[in-house]
Amino acid sequence: MPLQRHQSSAARCGSTAASAPHCSRSRRSRWSRRAGVVVTVWGVSAVLAGCADASSGGDSDDDGNAGEAGETITVVTSIDVYADLVEQIAGETADVQPMVDNPAVDPHSYEATPQDRLAVDSADVIVANGGGYDAFLTRLAESAGKQDQVYQLIEGENEHSHGDDGGYENEHIWYDLDQMQDFVAEFADYLADEVPDNADLYQENAEALGEELTELKAEVEDVSADGMSFLATESVSGFLLEDAGFEDLTDEQFLAAVEHGDDVSPRLYQQALDIATSDGIGLLAYNPQTETSQSEQIRSAAEDADVAVMEFSETLPEGVDSYVEWMHSQIGDLDETVGRVNG
Ligand SMILES: [Zn+2]
Repeated sequence: MPLQRHQSSAARCGSTAASAPHCSRSRRSRWSRRAGVVVTVWGVSAVLAGCADASSGGDSDDDGNAGEAGETITVVTSIDVYADLVEQIAGETADVQPMVDNPAVDPHSYEATPQDRLAVDSADVIVANGGGYDAFLTRLAESAGKQDQVYQLIEGENEHSHGDDGGYENEHIWYDLDQMQDFVAEFADYLADEVPDNADLYQENAEALGEELTELKAEVEDVSADGMSFLATESVSGFLLEDAGFEDLTDEQFLAAVEHGDDVSPRLYQQALDIATSDGIGLLAYNPQTETSQSEQIRSAAEDADVAVMEFSETLPEGVDSYVEWMHSQIGDLDETVGRVNG
């Protein structure tokens, strides 16, 4: 699945546009990231390089941003996973606000709040996964007239792409480390186009993050799940498990129905129960964030049959702020589970 690099410019106040009149006294919003509470500072400092010079002769040291003032952009992302990756790349030069960072909330059925609307209204860059996953964000961007500020990872319309045959395409690409490496490199370039003054910083940070992702890929390769298979109650962990060597036994029509928030047909449900309790299955991948009575039944049937069950969530778990840390921990758990099942 190709990543899309959106070319349109989000920066309207770059250093080459110091005289742009709309930059002169920008409202500056800062967001408290984890608490989900919007903290708005009605300041006079400018948002981007150049604006500060235009409005206040460069006197923008009062925003607590340690000399980086005037180079801060505001980024809104659909899920906290992308917020963390963007923060790793942009460092102190961006205020990043995810819309979904509560592990008790199912992002698939998330409904944007008035606060989300405000966040999008004042965002310089909007990062969406695409593929139908976070259409709530692209819709907000559209209604705010900010389509051009959207960086969408999965190319094309933000709709589920299912063929007539019920085929399923997995949009949970943040479980695919290769795709995240592409994203990190491309997004650093994108930001560099927006704020050229920070290009070196973005590049350096992206390279460091890319190396961490390379280490994670090596950890996945060390998981020896070759010859093992899994069933998933939802597709979130699919890329990671396949990279670890697992074969996916989940029916695509089952995944498509779950994706649409529908109950799975009795036939597919029974088939899933049969697979989840069969001798050949190595793992049940359970998504607690998209739990339904059917998925709970499949889980308890698997547990009764002594099948290993692992939980994989959509977004960062409680108390975890780092994508790399989260993946490291999940891969470690997977390795342990595989060892136990094979032992
Ligand atoms: Zn999902």
